[in-house]
Amino acid sequence: MSELHKFLFEGLPVRGAIVRLTDAWQEILQRRAANTQTGAYPAPVSELLGQMSAAAVLMQANIKFNGALVLQIFGDGPVKLSVVEVQPDFGLRATATVQGEVLPQASLSHMVNQNNEGRCAITLDPLERLPGQQPYQGVVPLFGDQKEKIENFSEILEHYMLQSEQLDTTLVLAANDQVAAGLLIQRLPLEGMGNLAGRYDSVERESALGKDEDYNRISILAKSLKADELLGLDVETVLHRLFWEEPLLRFEPLVGETGPRFQCTCSRERVGRMIKGLGVEEAESILSERESIEVGCEFCGQQYHFDPVDAASLFTQPEASLQSGPAVH
Ligand SMILES: [Zn+2]
Repeated sequence: MSELHKFLFEGLPVRGAIVRLTDAWQEILQRRAANTQTGAYPAPVSELLGQMSAAAVLMQANIKFNGALVLQIFGDGPVKLSVVEVQPDFGLRATATVQGEVLPQASLSHMVNQNNEGRCAITLDPLERLPGQQPYQGVVPLFGDQKEKIENFSEILEHYMLQSEQLDTTLVLAANDQVAAGLLIQRLPLEGMGNLAGRYDSVERESALGKDEDYNRISILAKSLKADELLGLDVETVLHRLFWEEPLLRFEPLVGETGPRFQCTCSRERVGRMIKGLGVEEAESILSERESIEVGCEFCGQQYHFDPVDAASLFTQPEASLQSGPAVH
């Protein structure tokens, strides 16, 4: 079963988490393979989406936020979009849109950043949005400080965490067709960071962040973890091998119903709202060419059918009856 473990280094300003997605990840791949329109992912796309899935769970585990965390790459190569969405209860779904050929050894930049126009976006979408409230979104390019293309997805997020959140972060990510796994090590924000902001400029603060000996030592240990070890070894073995000399304080693992698992949030109501959003003319135009409006969920493969009667009722029913939740007035 998929599992998520959080831990602290006792007395040190460092925390961590490790995730192993097994059944959840296999279900995402199986549902894609069963989609007759797309077929299975090419291996490099699957590897990228698996790494993104592990990373998104680790990020959701590390923030205090009641809403979905959405990790996206908008690509300028054959992978146009890859997206992972993790709910606060660790229900997750993922999908990628592939147009064109992805060779077996395709690099990250070949897939999503051929012309330096690829972007990675991290969105926090609150569950209960206030009227007019927009989701928070941070966007980063896929090249480094020297304008070099980044070829490891983990480095993109490490950059993002340092630049946007001022958090020193070490990520090790790996995925194959059975397991998507990740290890995150993060330096805890300095106590009274708000006060420090007035005393140091941002450059000094960033260099102070990099100076922590404990974090650096633990980060180097974490980086020594090889992809095949992360994929092939159980969590206990990984943590023991890396950190047996460190004062590790473990939290109760999140497994099964409380842990990461596949879950799609699509519904007939949501699809109905989308069709309504197209407008009555567009809906009628589709129905003049075929018997019903067919919408397939890209995340789970569920097919939704709206025949002319269903479609007409979308445009005649009041908005409130289309909503799954309580009506907002
Ligand atoms: Zn779905």
